Formats: sequence, structure tokens, C-alpha cells
Amino acid sequence: MKELSVINALIDSISALPSIGKKTAERIAYALLDFEPSKIKEIGENIASLPLKIKRCAICGGYSLGDSCEICQNPERNHQFMMVVHEPKDIFLFEKTNAMKGIYFVLDELLKGSKPTGKLETRINLLKNRIQKEKTSEILLATPMSLEGQTTALYLQSFLKTPNLKITRLAYGLPFGSMLEYVDTITLKQAVIARIKMGEE
Ligand SMILES: [Zn+2]
Repeated sequence: MKELSVINALIDSISALPSIGKKTAERIAYALLDFEPSKIKEIGENIASLPLKIKRCAICGGYSLGDSCEICQNPERNHQFMMVVHEPKDIFLFEKTNAMKGIYFVLDELLKGSKPTGKLETRINLLKNRIQKEKTSEILLATPMSLEGQTTALYLQSFLKTPNLKITRLAYGLPFGSMLEYVDTITLKQAVIARIKMGEE
């Protein structure tokens, strides 16, 4: 059935999305068949325009509409307080808490061996340069509560250590391995407010 091959292609595309299994993908595909053509066009255009509209900020690595993001450009933000996160989407999670008034830096990768290589090494060097440039007084390491995330935080703590730089980590109160995106906003806010100075635990 030729008709089926068109729908199967759509089901395959939808299945590539996170948390969507084959059955759910089928349900979404069949639901779309009942949508108004204008609605389908709107959904398609919103998806297609993503790589054209959303870039990565050249300063922090977060998502941005221009070369640099609104947070990096904002003089009202505390540029001496920098949070280090794993992925660009983590910035949105912390922005929702309203507890973060500083700026961010995205690592993109976590430490896998004993020393960073490739992209991570480049990002960490950029981070070090930025700390010097912004005259950062506090850095909050908000890497994930996983083995890799915590290994990365410990590496950064020793690599970035200078007498004038306070290095803190989130106060989780969460089970080891919990992913930030599944943590509710109030808990995340508390984790920022009650942050712990590293090396004093
Ligand atoms: Zn930025």
C-alpha cells in the first residue's frame, strides 16, 4: 500500500523524538491526519525554522536568537556569578527558578576519562578565559548528579581553583543519578539558594 509508506515515514520521524515509542508515534501520526492543513503547516514550519532561528551563543554556548544570548548581553545580570551547566537546555530549567541572577556557561560534554580531551578541553579553556575576563567571584558547578557529572565538577574545582574564586555546587537533596530535567522547579530553586562551597563538605 503506497499510502502506508507515507504514513510510515512520518511514524519513523516521530519515533526519533525522546520518550516516544512506536505506538505513541502511530497515535500522533494518525491524529495529524485529522488536523486542518493549516495547523499541520504551522507545526511543520515551527520545526523547520528551528535551525534557522535558534543558534548557540558565542559567549556562553546557550541557545540564542543572535550571535550572543539575552543573558550574556544583559548588564543587569550579575556577571561575577557564573553557573556551569552540562547542556544548553539546563539554562531554561534554572531560569524558571528565578533564583539565578548570574550568567551561565555550557560545557556540552562531561568528563569521561581522567583528563578532558577534544571539545570538552576547548570548552574548559574557554571557561577559564571567561572567568578571567568577567572577573568572576563565584562559580556554581551545576553538572548532573551522575558519576560523570560529579567527576567533571571535581575536575573543574581543582582546575579552576584560584584564591579569589569561590567554587560552589548545587545542594541537591536528591538521589544520586536524578536528572535535572525531572527535578521540580521549587527543589531546583532550593538547590541554588542553599548551594554548598566545594571542599568544605
Ligand atoms: Zn550567552
